[in-house]
Amino acid sequence: MAEIVLRVGSCTAQGVRPNNEDRCVVDLDHHLFLVADGMGGQERGELASGMAAEIIPKVLQDRLAASTPAEEAMRAALSSANDAIVDAGKVQPEGRRMGTTAVMALHFRDQCYVAGLGDSRAYLIRNDKVDQLTVDHSVAQALVASGALTPEDARHSPYQHVLHKFLGCTGMAEGAEIRPFQPEAGDRLLLGSDGLTNHLSDHDLIEGARDMRDPQEWADQLVKLALERGSRDNVTCVIVAFERS
Ligand code: CA
Repeated sequence: MAEIVLRVGSCTAQGVRPNNEDRCVVDLDHHLFLVADGMGGQERGELASGMAAEIIPKVLQDRLAASTPAEEAMRAALSSANDAIVDAGKVQPEGRRMGTTAVMALHFRDQCYVAGLGDSRAYLIRNDKVDQLTVDHSVAQALVASGALTPEDARHSPYQHVLHKFLGCTGMAEGAEIRPFQPEAGDRLLLGSDGLTNHLSDHDLIEGARDMRDPQEWADQLVKLALERGSRDNVTCVIVAFERS
């Protein structure tokens, strides 16, 4: 079987916000990719997403080096980041939550594993089809799942951005679902913060994947597109292209 090689591009933009609370990790040595979108206002959101970007790769590498299975290592990494952020958030004033989303992808021994907490998303674009690999942990999405809201209502719901699961959340007990998949040559994996994904359609992703020559060029272009379409949020995108060696 032909070996798969990875090419990667990433881009993050502050947009109109006073600071950028999004962080991304692109680690081509370990084939680990992450987008974290911090919340909690001002420097607290940046601190939370920065902690996720620092702790998750470190714990993951330690666990993998100790022969922990990939999915268990990912859960341990998310759980360590969660504990540290919960601790750091204890100094927050009452009613202000400090936390961060995290969506991560690990390519390890011919498998790819994707995990998400919060509403940053992962999409796999394969053969002109788009598959969202993560579930939004927003209250609106939970109401859709229970049948109380239609997907269209959810797009305009005030609960669209209220998260019930994220890093820094004391009730993260059941953790993240992990989606494994077997990468194929031609696959494009996109990780993005909501400032990006709220402004892109499946059609954009299919067209872009078809035309893509360079993942860095495509990541830059998608961030620009989200801003042009009126994203008032921080905008972050990581593209992983799986190709035949
Ligand atoms: Ca955001």
